[in-house]
Order: sequence, then C-alpha cells, then structure tokens
Amino acid sequence: MSKIDEKVEELPCPGGCGKKIKISFRAMCNTRVAKCSCGSMYKFKSGDVNNLKTLLQKVEQAEKDAEKAMRESMIKMQTSYINMVKSADIEMKRR
Ligand SMILES: [Zn+2]
Repeated sequence: MSKIDEKVEELPCPGGCGKKIKISFRAMCNTRVAKCSCGSMYKFKSGDVNNLKTLLQKVEQAEKDAEKAMRESMIKMQTSYINMVKSADIEMKRR
C-alpha cells in the first residue's frame, strides 16, 4: 500500500525562479516549509498543517478500512460461489 503522506507534490517556486519544489506531504507537515534551491520558500501556517495532518490520517484509515472490507467481501464471495456449485441441481444428459 502506498502511504499517502509519502506522496510527492510539485510546487512552483514562490520566488519566481522557475524551478519546481518537489516535496512530500510528510516533509511539508514535519518541517512546515517547502524550500526552493534558490532560497525562496513557502512557510505554512501551523493550523493549516495540522488540518492537513488530520486529513492525511483520515485518508490512510479509510484506505485500511476499504482493504479490510475488500478482503472480507472476497472471502464471502468465494464461499458463496462454492456453495452455489455444491448445491446446484445436476442434470445429466443421457447418451
Ligand atoms: Zn526558486
């Protein structure tokens, strides 16, 4: 499973040097800045960072829940299929 907070985003340099800042959500949350190699940077507001952190956690939890539901449904589906075959009425063609 790819962790959402490892996803890398590209931001245009705020100083206008034309370069792109490549940074993960995790790094943005941990450092609260996105810095270009030219020295210009975004400084994120702590409230906004906390909000993003909370939502990243929610996305991760939703992914886990969805995977669990998928596994459970697959098992039920396979069991249902086996039962359907087992309990089918058999009609044999006479030769
Ligand atoms: Zn720059």
